[in-house]
Amino acid sequence: MHAREVSVDRTFVLRLETGRDWRAQLEAFAAEHDIEAGWFTGLGAVQGAELYYYDQPSQTYAPFEVDEPMEVAACVGNVSLLDGEVFAHTHAVLSDPTGRTVSGHLNRAETYAGEVYLQAFEDPIERSHDERTDLDLWRFDDGN
Ligand code: ZN
Repeated sequence: MHAREVSVDRTFVLRLETGRDWRAQLEAFAAEHDIEAGWFTGLGAVQGAELYYYDQPSQTYAPFEVDEPMEVAACVGNVSLLDGEVFAHTHAVLSDPTGRTVSGHLNRAETYAGEVYLQAFEDPIERSHDERTDLDLWRFDDGN
């Protein structure tokens, strides 16, 4: 395990804009406010969601779409730098009218409504390619 101590620098509550992409709004906000690391939780409603499932044996992302309007029963994610750009790694649990859920790595979704709590950390966190998982994982000062 690799760990680093972080200090929460600033905290924000965000009301996401209807009609705009959920994750892109978070990334735009982070970029505008010089947030290069952070953690967030959120809830709301979306439509036209595209989620990814990471298939470990083949090390590929398998995308799937959910076209109908869904509740964002829970959203959790973090902000860090990927190739020098702000990346909001976002996971979500979406629920349908019967309460059944689909969930995964949220690539895109049109926001209907969204409320997010964001903690911005003082120092940046960067991602780099990890050979074993073929994922872009957090890189810490110990070289890993
Ligand atoms: Zn993910």
